[in-house]
Amino acid sequence: MSAKIVIIGAGSAGIAAATRLYQRGLKNVQILEATDRIGGRVHTVPFGENVIDKGAQWCHGEKQNVVFELASPLGLLESSIIGGNNLLIQSNGEIVNQALSDRLMQMAGEIAESEELETYGGTFGDFVTERFMKAVNEEKNKDIDRELVQQFLVSYHNYQKGYNAIDSWYEYSVNDDAEDCEGNQTLSWMGKGYQSVLDLLLGRHPSQNGDLIPIEEKIVFNKFVKNIHWNRGPDYPVTIYCQDGSQYDADHVILTMSLGVLKENLQTMFTPQLPSIKRNAITGIYFGTVNKIIMEFKVPFWAEVGNTFSLLWGQDELESLRASKYAWTEGVSAFFKIDRQPKLLAAWMMGKECRQAELLSGQDIIDGLLFLLRKFFKEKQIDPPIKMIRSQWFSDRNFRGSYSSRSIKTDLLQTGCNDLAIPLTDCFGKPVLLFAGEATNSKHYGTVHGAIETGWREANRLIDLYEKQQKKVETVQTT
Ligand SMILES: Cc1cc2nc3c(=O)[nH]c(=O)nc-3n(C[C@H](O)[C@H](O)[C@H](O)COP(=O)(O)OP(=O)(O)OC[C@H]3O[C@@H](n4cnc5c(N)ncnc54)[C@H](O)[C@@H]3O)c2cc1C
Repeated sequence: MSAKIVIIGAGSAGIAAATRLYQRGLKNVQILEATDRIGGRVHTVPFGENVIDKGAQWCHGEKQNVVFELASPLGLLESSIIGGNNLLIQSNGEIVNQALSDRLMQMAGEIAESEELETYGGTFGDFVTERFMKAVNEEKNKDIDRELVQQFLVSYHNYQKGYNAIDSWYEYSVNDDAEDCEGNQTLSWMGKGYQSVLDLLLGRHPSQNGDLIPIEEKIVFNKFVKNIHWNRGPDYPVTIYCQDGSQYDADHVILTMSLGVLKENLQTMFTPQLPSIKRNAITGIYFGTVNKIIMEFKVPFWAEVGNTFSLLWGQDELESLRASKYAWTEGVSAFFKIDRQPKLLAAWMMGKECRQAELLSGQDIIDGLLFLLRKFFKEKQIDPPIKMIRSQWFSDRNFRGSYSSRSIKTDLLQTGCNDLAIPLTDCFGKPVLLFAGEATNSKHYGTVHGAIETGWREANRLIDLYEKQQKKVETVQTT
């Protein structure tokens, strides 16, 4: 009988690990999943004319991107509309002309990606602000209105807060090993949603000719793992205790729950406590919140202009917003269109206002967004949406946020994903607790391709272990 491997979490990393183990002969696998569905932060749901994604939406990049490698040969990806025609829109209702929008975005983008960041002493926010102001003060840029410069910088900060899932760019570390995969950064799933990647991993996508990998029958749903007793003894070194009183024994456990879940349950989830290197990593790596609010309108009032509308606040209007009941809408950085869904408009929310807004009622959310839309699209007749759907990643105890990033605290504690990824072994050096999930990927954290890579990484670790053991047995038998 082969080793018993329990995987905690049926998100991208968990499904990737389970399918790889199964395909390579380690079939005694079980997945314990807290919710009643697979996918985790990949969550495609019916809405509008087809589907929307509450979590991951785009395949970011092509080169060395495992998602692209799985999906592209089958023709499942297309360039998203949000890859172009992005507009800056001001709170007085004016749209900044496209050429100037592009110029500002390009200047800021080049600074944010500059190699000089690596040797810069301050924070990411200090760097971008300093260099951006220097650039706009050059003679060739003197034509740009100074107030617009200030408004743009605030809006670009909001964009970066979302991109890096961080509350402030003054918290974001410049010592970051993250690497974007080269190529198109916004590839979408042709109206089928990111869940297609789960079908691909499971070998059940209609465009695949291979065999189904029967992992679904190995998933037990509604099992919230509350404690892992991880050094019990040679027969089943690990016992897992679930919230509902059930327990499972295992030789190896692959953990894929989000960093948010690990942070919240750090004191109670492990017996004995994790060693300090792990605790340091769980405490030090940042886990932020980004949400989407998606509205369906009878008539798409925005049709003729832009695909993304980044919001630029005038100072006076921002001050009166902060004193109003709609103060939380400051956390909306942009509205954007959804591919193949002409009647939908989505709002990006980030930062602390985004977590506060999770607690508001659906009607409060609709009222706030209508207020914003009527302010920024002054010329338009805007009726209330007919439907609204939103993500609430922070309030959900199975996630407690959206994705990880590197903060100043990560640097101060001298930790990072590599520490989080180190497996814990028993007294014979055999890996007992293995750590996967996006936050354990030093180059591609915060993404689905990063999460899948880590599931495969930990599955390969066990496959190598048992292949080596098998070879030893064969050598002994032949001598
Ligand atoms: C709003 C948003 C937008 C995003 N956009 C993109 C994008 O466009 N492109 C991209 O590549 N990435 C994007 N991401 C990031 C991407 O979704 C994640 O990096 C990836 O899905 C994480 O996968 P994972 O397997 O590591 O974790 P998860 O998907 O979180 O899987 C972990 C699983 O563990 C389960 N679990 C948690 N606790 C327990 C417990 N105690 N017991 C049992 N089970 C438990 C959870 O229910 C979950 O199913 C986005 C994320 C969000 C939230």
